Amino acid sequence: MAEIPAHGLGRAQLFERLEAYRARDLDWRDGRAFAYTYDPGEEAEAVAKEAYVRFLGENALDPTVFPSLLQLENEIVGMAARHLGGGPETVGSFTSGGTESILMAVLAARDAARRERPDITRPNMVLPETCHAAHYKAAHYFDLEIVQVPVDPATCRVSAAAMDAAITDQTILLAASAPSYAYGVIDPIEAIGAVAARRGIRFHVDACMGGFLLPYFKRLGRDVPPFDLSVPGVTSISMDFHKYAFAPKGASVVLHRDASLRADQWYACSNWAGYTVVNQTAQSTRGGGPLAGCWAVLQHLGDEGYLNISRIILDATARLAAGIAAIDGLTLAAPSDFCLFSFRCEGVDLFHVIDEMRLRDWYIQPQLGFGSCPAAIHLSVGPGNAAGVPAFLADLREAVAAAAELPDASLPSEIHEQLAAIDPRALDRDQFLRLLAMAGVDGVALPERMAGINHLLDAAPVALREAVLIAFLNELYRPPA
Ligand SMILES: *Cc1c(COP(=O)(O)O)cnc(C)c1O
Repeated sequence: MAEIPAHGLGRAQLFERLEAYRARDLDWRDGRAFAYTYDPGEEAEAVAKEAYVRFLGENALDPTVFPSLLQLENEIVGMAARHLGGGPETVGSFTSGGTESILMAVLAARDAARRERPDITRPNMVLPETCHAAHYKAAHYFDLEIVQVPVDPATCRVSAAAMDAAITDQTILLAASAPSYAYGVIDPIEAIGAVAARRGIRFHVDACMGGFLLPYFKRLGRDVPPFDLSVPGVTSISMDFHKYAFAPKGASVVLHRDASLRADQWYACSNWAGYTVVNQTAQSTRGGGPLAGCWAVLQHLGDEGYLNISRIILDATARLAAGIAAIDGLTLAAPSDFCLFSFRCEGVDLFHVIDEMRLRDWYIQPQLGFGSCPAAIHLSVGPGNAAGVPAFLADLREAVAAAAELPDASLPSEIHEQLAAIDPRALDRDQFLRLLAMAGVDGVALPERMAGINHLLDAAPVALREAVLIAFLNELYRPPA
């Protein structure tokens, strides 16, 4: 059992342990990872770290006590609004991440509909199947239904006509991506905005991934269609600073076209014995670190710094995409509008390719098949990846060749049938362990090769995938014995 030590450890001793704990972590600063981490480079990281630590103990819960945090937040939101086509009426909130930003946009839309549209009893939101899972989480938390619109399999982009046709008399919100996490594709925001405006429905643009760099890509001559608050019909937009603005984690923003649209995001409670709670996000106590770290990175890199980073990223992305497309059997999933893209493998098992790359110390991300989109390999490209492009491509060639020699890890069709017959709500521990065994996994210790488990998940209906992964993590998150 873990326990609080009777006598406090000395600095040296506890830091030694802390460092030992991360021995098996992904080394995200070495440029060999293509997901989860966004490396601003040594100098910007040091600046962010110092700012973060200086505001470690401050609390944004009460702006009258820490006016510095109010000022930081207003300045960050102001910079974001200016960056994303907002006007003088635009307001927003600094949040802990893209998920919280999206939760807040959805909550504001739901509660506004509750006030203004009593005829709506089963509110829904209409979104393309490529929209981020955070929208589903919002629907789950706030009791909304989702109307999912298929995308064109060739472009992985939704059409405004399909969105329009999916709207019902219960629709309170439309959402689309700029760009989607899965394919880097920007949905037709102007055309969907026109639908939203005509129908009088709110429209949230999820620009968590792309909102920050797309304006720079445009300045560098890339073809970037209008996607932000400058587009009529767009009522809110989310953008993560802790992705491609390279801020320390815990930094995102949700912007509303004007304060009336944010009104229902506010929550106040005076109905108890303590201080009155007034929050605009899901959090109440909010550390000053993420605000100060984010502000510091924006100030330190500046417009010029981001433009330079954008040049590096665009160049690396183009070299990667061309190099991948030139490897026999590999094809890009869809033309991407951003510095992330996905590719597929023909004649070779893509999950084996991922494992072979992992053995060569590269992290590339598996994307399970879904709807009209078969399984793919995802790459989000950052400045730290640029120098390693030739080595990556050489290793990828080798990995594809090695994967082709491996035994088939895909599941026979009778297993697909068995999977389809399982009731995910009734998945018990034995059944869960049998499923893992089927995928060649013994207990919950992760195997070196993940192809077996990835095939199992890919073959399983989505509700079973979710149940299996929850069961898995539910085992993983246990206090040490
Ligand atoms: C990352 C991401 C989110 C969720 O953001 P978190 O910061 O992980 O909560 C939402 N939408 C898109 C498009 C994203 O890329």
